[in-house]
Amino acid sequence: MTALTLFNSLTRKLEHFEPVHPHEARVYSCGPTVYNYPHIGNMRAYVFADLLGRTLSWKGYQLTHVINITDVGHLTDDADQGEDKMEKMAAERAQSIWDIAKHYTEAYWADVKALNIRQPAQWSIATDYIDDMLEFAKSIADKHCYQLDSGLYFDVSTVEDYGRLARAVTDEGEGRIEAVAGKRNAADFAIWRATPPGEKRQMEWDSPWGKGAPGWHLECSVMSGKLLGFPFDIHTGGIDHREIHHPNEIAQNQAFCGCGGLSSAANSGARIWMHNNFLVERSGKMSKSSGEFLRLQLLIDKGYSPLAYRMMCCQAHYRSELEFSWDGLGAALTRLKRMLIAVERLKDRAEGPVREPKGGWTLDEAHHHVGGALLPLVAQFDAAMSDDLNSPQALTVLEEALALKKIDPVHKLELVAAMDAVLGLGLLTTTRADLRVRPKGIAITEAEIEEALTARKEARAAKDFARSDALRDELTAKGVEVMDGDPLGWEWKL
Ligand code: AMP
Ligand code: ZN
Repeated sequence: MTALTLFNSLTRKLEHFEPVHPHEARVYSCGPTVYNYPHIGNMRAYVFADLLGRTLSWKGYQLTHVINITDVGHLTDDADQGEDKMEKMAAERAQSIWDIAKHYTEAYWADVKALNIRQPAQWSIATDYIDDMLEFAKSIADKHCYQLDSGLYFDVSTVEDYGRLARAVTDEGEGRIEAVAGKRNAADFAIWRATPPGEKRQMEWDSPWGKGAPGWHLECSVMSGKLLGFPFDIHTGGIDHREIHHPNEIAQNQAFCGCGGLSSAANSGARIWMHNNFLVERSGKMSKSSGEFLRLQLLIDKGYSPLAYRMMCCQAHYRSELEFSWDGLGAALTRLKRMLIAVERLKDRAEGPVREPKGGWTLDEAHHHVGGALLPLVAQFDAAMSDDLNSPQALTVLEEALALKKIDPVHKLELVAAMDAVLGLGLLTTTRADLRVRPKGIAITEAEIEEALTARKEARAAKDFARSDALRDELTAKGVEVMDGDPLGWEWKL
């Protein structure tokens, strides 16, 4: 068994994972702001957090994962300026914020499910924790905050090592504009945003600093500390959060705990801070304001299974930028198809059931039950995932396993199931039909396709090529591509 090593953004080093509480792993992931649909870049952050969680479970840790839902407080500019994203969208749509939050939270959860992201122990909804936020803010207000007309501000000079996570120069707040008159330091941020006089916000609460709403950074400090206890093990988010949101969370956590500087990572509230790199796309479709923006549903409408996107994410290391292209997605789908076909063949040959351990597959279970000849592959797979979640490497080990000859199919299926417990590609449960996602606007049914193909086979057997071609043309006109001689044996696609 290889020790689990993770890259800690706080130290910029690979570190052995040592749990705060023996045998446990407590993880907090910054969740979506539910003012719009998540784009597939956002979803990369949760596929990454899921890979992390699954790896911790594989290593035998009892996982407690919390993901929050931000339904208040996130401004259009992370550096504490602009409007509340939720209020802005509600005004544009002339809808209630609560309806908007509900709609987009459900849309996000649908994407989570479609991508085989496991349910966390808890989804924490920011507006459910307003009282806790007020308590937290009160406890640090005297020593660390000051009040301006626009709210209660955190003075970043009151904690040691502010901004270490971002490696930012804090004196003049590198790259930040001091827009709020009276701020002591450019990097100071509002932990409570007072409602301007004469205005009424849809979401506002009473506080010692006037009616208003919590700041976004405050929410994550409060929910992570309350649900996981400071210090917990791992805090995750996209790499953009390394610059402002997480340094600000850390400053609040230091204040709340009365902790010293960050030479001890635990003083930051979490021992390890992990960040996934971005999914990038050249034509601007990642922007939520573009017409055809890249959300999971667009991939589905174009006939791609969400699992092809999960495969695409797994093929890249989480700390590398990943460039999205339709060709790349197509290649990921093909790779997934190959795996599924190999699994189908194994299932056809298997004599007897495939074991499913009670608590799911773990390294221990795989080690003890998967069988002697396969043990080196279990070890290689474990080594790959333990090396800062090297999923691209783990995938090649999985493929090696699928290619092995002369192994009992049941044992091989168990090995695949064990590896897939970490990768989450659904290899034992997904069928060909599941991968044949119906692009929008195609009406022909599978039964009709199969019927036409059978007729075509008969025509060909009878050497009636004119009829065979005609049947093929009819299918083409209905959006079905007939794939004669496809090396994957995939006969047709929509
Ligand atoms: P938001 O809803 O804006 O708070 O973002 C949700 C998550 O997605 C955060 O962890 C972001 O850091 C992350 N994120 C945003 N854009 C991308 C992207 N293009 N690629 C990967 N992660 C992203
Ligand atoms: Zn957060």
